[in-house]
Parts: sequence; C-alpha cells; structure tokens
Amino acid sequence: MSSNATLVLFLASSTLQPYEAVEPHMGTLFRIKLYAASEQQAKRAFQAAFSRIAQLDETLSDYRAESELSRVTTVATPVHVSDNLFAVLSKGEWLAEQTDGAFDVTLGPLTHLWRQTRRERRLPSPELLKNALERSGFRKMHLDAAIHSVRFDAPGMQLDVGGIAKGYAADEALAVLTKLGIRSALVAASGDLAFSDAPPGEKGWKIGIDALEHAIPLANAAVSTSGSSEQNFMANGVRYSHIIDPKTGLGLTTNITTSVIAPHGIDADGLATALNVLGPERGLAFIDTLPGVAAIIATGEKVVESASFHRFSR
Ligand code: ADP
Ligand code: MG
Repeated sequence: MSSNATLVLFLASSTLQPYEAVEPHMGTLFRIKLYAASEQQAKRAFQAAFSRIAQLDETLSDYRAESELSRVTTVATPVHVSDNLFAVLSKGEWLAEQTDGAFDVTLGPLTHLWRQTRRERRLPSPELLKNALERSGFRKMHLDAAIHSVRFDAPGMQLDVGGIAKGYAADEALAVLTKLGIRSALVAASGDLAFSDAPPGEKGWKIGIDALEHAIPLANAAVSTSGSSEQNFMANGVRYSHIIDPKTGLGLTTNITTSVIAPHGIDADGLATALNVLGPERGLAFIDTLPGVAAIIATGEKVVESASFHRFSR
C-alpha cells in the first residue's frame, strides 16, 4: 500500500469515535456500543436500532397479550404470520428437531405455569402440570414455509420464544446499524451479545465469558451465556432454573452455565439455552456438528469445551 493510501486510511479510522447508549427492552437492558463519524450519525443509528428492537418486542413478547405471537396461539386454523415471527419460529423448529425437543418454542403453557410457580413459591399440582404438558411440544406445531403460516394440533397451545428473541433482536439491531453505515458495533442484552467489525485498529471486541479468566477478542459473531445463576428459585431445598426441562415440565435442577459462540445471535442464544437442558456430554457432541460454533460449559464440578473452542479463545 502506498504511504498516501495508508494516510487516508489512518485519517478515516481516526475520525471515528466511540458512542454508547442503553435502553430497556424485552425485560432487560439493551446496550449498544458503536463507532461513528459524528454524534449526529450515532444518535440516528441508536434511534433506528432501538426502535427495531422495540418493534421485535411488540411482535415476539409472550408477556403482552396483544403481541402477534400471543394472538397467533389463540386460534386452531393455520395463521399467516409476519416474516419476523416466521423467522424466529423456523429457527425454533430447527433447534427443537436438532435437540430432540430439549429446546422448544411451544413450551408456553409450561413457562407460564412456571412463572406462577415462582411467584407463589409453590410447585404446580400434577393436574396442572399434566394439562400444560399436553398443550406443549414442537411436534404439534406445523410451519408452512411456502405461505408463512403456523398451525397447532392441540387447543390452548402457547408460544414462548424467550430463549432466542434477544439474540435475534441483537442480530436485527446490528443489521440496521450496518445499513446506516456503522461497521463496528456491539449489541448486548444481558447474556446475549452480537457484534460486527472490530473497533477501529483492534483485533476484536473484548468479550468476557464467565468460565474464562481472560476476555477474548471477537468480531462478526455472537456470544450468549445462559444458566441457573440469576433467575432461579428454591422449593423444598431444591434449586430450580427458569429454563424448563421439557420431560418433567419443571425448571432444571442441574447446576450449569453455558456460553456459546456462533456466527449469529439467534443461534448463540438458542443454543446456550438448549445446552442447559442437554447437559455437557450431549450438548458438546451436538455443538461439534455445527460449523463456526463453539461452546464452554461450567457445571459444579468442571469446565468443559467443545473441540473448536480453543480456536476462538487463544
Ligand atoms: P435468559 O432469558 O435468562 O437470557 P435464556 O436465553 O436461556 O435465558 O432463555 C430462557 C427463556 O426461554 C425462559 O425464560 C423461557 O421463556 C424460555 N424457555 C425456558 N425453557 C425453555 C426450553 N427448554 N426451550 C426453549 N425455551 C425455553
Ligand atoms: Mg437463550
């Protein structure tokens, strides 16, 4: 490269400044860091990215009775759904098929029952549990990619995409930023992070992972961490996670924290949740089949990594 070209490149990158903003969405805080040429460009970018996240929250929330996701589940005939909802449900179906239902977006009846359990601090009755289990299960959900529709076999089914929505929203926020000419950005929603190009002049965004002592530089990828640590509750001396074991219908009781690195946030998020259910052995065997994906899992006793993890961490 000629010295002139080097100088031009240097000037271009040195004019980029870091900006940061935080907004509450999806029941958590979304933090966006980006490099922009001016405060005006940064402001416009934050506004567009956060409004995309808010729009996805309105579509995908199972806490809002009027969201598209909530309304879809109240009918039994095939319903045409928006591209956003269909994209998330398709990923959910794929994950369910790959994990034999360990990750399942049709667990709505069980996750809602579990929220009530946590509020009342009392385990559900066998009748309530049986009823919710009967209204759950991805094999009773049918997607039609040709017409973007969804149909359920059983009445009273409910969707819950809480295990992938934040990762998807992070991806979509990044896409909005990229369109606005922002090349280096990071979107973080508690344990779900997605990022584009590295900050100017750096190798990557320095990402901390619970099970690792040092931060690792990553770019154009996503990292999600999921575990029993934050939202658990105790009953009869047992600690239950907010992640449901689809076999029992109850929160998981294993002590496990999983972190997944993947090309996209939706995958990292869904896979991190799935690994909680699958556990280290089945979980890592699955991760090793996925190109560009790596995972690290901490249980009470040990920390284990997928075969490809060292490529990212060193
Ligand atoms: P967090 O919301 O703490 O980041 P996760 O990404 O692991 O955690 O998602 C947990 C959420 O996913 C739960 O709150 C619930 O809405 C939903 N969920 C719980 N169990 C499952 C499961 N087995 N498969 C898919 N989604 C689940
Ligand atoms: Mg998740």
